[in-house]
Amino acid sequence: MTTDVKIKLYNTLSRKKDEFIPIDSNNVRMYVCGPTVYDYAHIGNARPAIVFDVLFRLLRHVYGNEHVTYVRNITDVDDKINARAVRDYPELELNEAIKKVTKKTTDQYHKDVKALGCIDPTFEPLATDHIKGMLKMIKNLLDNNHAYIAGGEVLFDIKSMSNYGALSNRKIEDQQAGARIEIKSHKRNAGDFILWKLSNESEPGWQSPWGRGRPGWHLECSVMSEFHLGEIFDIHGGGLDLIFPHHENEIAQSCSAHNNDKMANYWLHNGFLQVEGQKMSKSLGNFITINDLLETDKFGGTKWAGDVLRLAILMTNYKEPIDFSEARLVEASRILTNWKNTILELGLDFDEENRAEIEALGPCSKLRFALADDLNMSGVIANLHRHASGKKLHNANRLFGSLQLLGLASFDSMQEWQNAKKSSKLEVNDIEQVEKAIIERLEALAQKNWVKADKIRNELEQKNILLKDTKDPKTGERVTNWEVSE
Ligand code: AMP
Ligand code: ZN
Repeated sequence: MTTDVKIKLYNTLSRKKDEFIPIDSNNVRMYVCGPTVYDYAHIGNARPAIVFDVLFRLLRHVYGNEHVTYVRNITDVDDKINARAVRDYPELELNEAIKKVTKKTTDQYHKDVKALGCIDPTFEPLATDHIKGMLKMIKNLLDNNHAYIAGGEVLFDIKSMSNYGALSNRKIEDQQAGARIEIKSHKRNAGDFILWKLSNESEPGWQSPWGRGRPGWHLECSVMSEFHLGEIFDIHGGGLDLIFPHHENEIAQSCSAHNNDKMANYWLHNGFLQVEGQKMSKSLGNFITINDLLETDKFGGTKWAGDVLRLAILMTNYKEPIDFSEARLVEASRILTNWKNTILELGLDFDEENRAEIEALGPCSKLRFALADDLNMSGVIANLHRHASGKKLHNANRLFGSLQLLGLASFDSMQEWQNAKKSSKLEVNDIEQVEKAIIERLEALAQKNWVKADKIRNELEQKNILLKDTKDPKTGERVTNWEVSE
């Protein structure tokens, strides 16, 4: 455990930067809302995956790898999934079709976030594996008058909770006024939300005391976080669009069910990402998936490496908005190339026998302090640039150790980079050698040293290099061209 760094985090609940004090430093616990798996993840979804991966890495660095539990769920029951299943697999029975959609999307998500350098969370629960726990929580809420049954739904009564709205700073009265037109007759308050709703025969559903149905989205996270992390844990994260209603309602359910005054101590929210000044949307044609960037040339006419995309997201502090553009990717690529080349030029050798020693390298304390200060990436990046302009092996060590902590480089990725550089140098050397041999042969021919000339030709042939003699049409001199035979 590295005790010299104090982590500070901006807490949406207290609306200020708070010192992070875990409930149990032997088991630091974080929950982040994961994807709803109906479609490929877009680059906005990449942001929480990357930002909370950096926080996970920092917590592991400070408290030790074995002392941090990170849960990121998969929402695999949702009406958007049902709609997609009907559209994509009309010939299949709905439940079969749903399984196809969720499996395909989840597999792709795993591939995407791995390419972005994210380490696997400790647990990745599926909502559909936790239905029992959800039924139990609903019963608890009904028994304690926090919920009621109306219109084929079980609903949470937001007025049953005295401080409902504390996270998003909304008053119940404001919501009533704003949503007057939308008030459904069966709801007691406009803001009451679904815990359980009935399914028709063709919709996915589970048996329950309130009829065959399916859970509301907010309930899933309350149940899965309790299952893995307990009633009260340290950090809960997600994009800022989740503050209301999703996180507010998670708090309402968990606190009411457990009779606690809190669910998590620190609530963290990443800012939103737009593309070239506009909200991403399919109709505007600026909707970009992670896969589009990594595997196709749809954006900027080229494929982008996962580490470049990662840096392009991390270049902006996590709470601020990002305006995503090709220029941002070009800039990230230029910076990363410079850092990696500098590490090699200053003398770090990614030879297999150095692996253990190199993998043990860590960042300097200035960088750790910047990162621990609410993931202050501008400070972090300034520090990386400082080391990249240094002249000593020490700077290479620090630069690599820092990039490793941030998930921007690993021994393997640097070894690949080093090998690629070596082989491109070899090619240049090969060409130089061939041209030198040709000149030698021309000199031998000029001296009528046929034996030497033939020897050179044969040696090159053995390396699959074929020589072709022609005459310069103007001077009549012998000119030798060469090609590599198949
Ligand atoms: P979803 O699958 O839509 O529930 O989103 C998964 C995660 O991505 C949530 O934490 C969202 O807050 C986050 N998210 C969605 N869109 C964006 C965006 N454009 N920028 C940043 N985060 C986003
Ligand atoms: Zn959630």
